[in-house]
Amino acid sequence: MKTFFVVVVLLSNFNSAFGSNEKLIAEMISKVNKSEIEQVISELSGEKEVLGGKYILSRQIGHPGNGLAAKYLVDSYEKIPGLKAGIHKFNPRLLAKITGTMIKGLYISKMNSEEKKMALAIIKETKDFATKYKDSNWDNIYSIHKGETKEHVILASHYDSVVRRDSAVHKNPKKGINRDIEPVRIGSLSPGADDNASGVAATIIAARILSKYRFKYSIMFLNLNAEELGLVGSTAFAMKELIKFGKIKSVINADMIGHDANGDGVMTISSGEKEEGLKDIATISHKSLKKEAGYNLNPTYVSIEQDLDEPHGPFIASDHLSFYNMGVKRAIMFGEGVYDHGPKLNLTQMNPAYHSVDDDVTNLNFDYINNIVKLIVSTVAREAVVLGRK
Ligand SMILES: [Zn+2]
Repeated sequence: MKTFFVVVVLLSNFNSAFGSNEKLIAEMISKVNKSEIEQVISELSGEKEVLGGKYILSRQIGHPGNGLAAKYLVDSYEKIPGLKAGIHKFNPRLLAKITGTMIKGLYISKMNSEEKKMALAIIKETKDFATKYKDSNWDNIYSIHKGETKEHVILASHYDSVVRRDSAVHKNPKKGINRDIEPVRIGSLSPGADDNASGVAATIIAARILSKYRFKYSIMFLNLNAEELGLVGSTAFAMKELIKFGKIKSVINADMIGHDANGDGVMTISSGEKEEGLKDIATISHKSLKKEAGYNLNPTYVSIEQDLDEPHGPFIASDHLSFYNMGVKRAIMFGEGVYDHGPKLNLTQMNPAYHSVDDDVTNLNFDYINNIVKLIVSTVAREAVVLGRK
């Protein structure tokens, strides 16, 4: 009996390291489809109609399109066999207070007086929004693909958008236009194709593909709201989630994966320094994809800590930080190439239409997005430990 047991263990280890799992991951990757990605981004950014003849013209908090986008997400998950959509409601006014306090505590000490002024203005703006639009949609939307354990791997992306500037202002990155210098333009159309319909598309496409397989860990597909007002939705979710849903193994966030200015495939992977291996899984996924024809990405790694130490405050301040701040250190973000050469911040790689009315599909590179989605799907599949087909 004992000998037999040892042989079985060896065989199953061999299998998972070199055999069936890799075949299954390759199969998943082959299902990532560029025109499907384009369809979802076009629907979320108002290019194509959704839900029987409506258009999501803006996903900014307070705009009807934000609620319409939430309905679209619920509908998208409900259409996937085996998945149901969940809605996480929270009190925006309470959360605006909490996130304001957190931003003050974490970042403001590093800022110069002008940046401090700007940060305080954004905190005030968020509070004003939370009061003025308290009855608007603020919901986070999620869907869970159950695994063998209740421990979750979260694949997250924010679905709200924002307009704060003319895109022309952004065309000279040396002028420091990387920061949010202007208040939210209420009433502006805010297509947010890159920021962040691209990341949301990755979540939905991943849900469609991964739901056809069995995993050791549960996978939560999570679309967060009010990221643009100071990580409000993710802070609310991280606080409640840690208690309600059981353990979170890791958080994989996708924010702005659509613009590749010079076609060099440079992208940014940001993770915490104490994340214990999630970055390695992303690297393994990248190397294995590199063998595949047509895959052209050059990831640059930057640590959350390094980004937080940027002299003018963090640049990759996205939803994974809310979980990281709540103790989920195994957190990572995939984004376009704002860090490279070293890695150093390189804002010439940024989408010139960032946070403007011009952030539409014309600035996107769908081959690039397709490759990042492949990287995301394979990273989640490895992290959640794929066991077989459903
Ligand atoms: Zn974003």
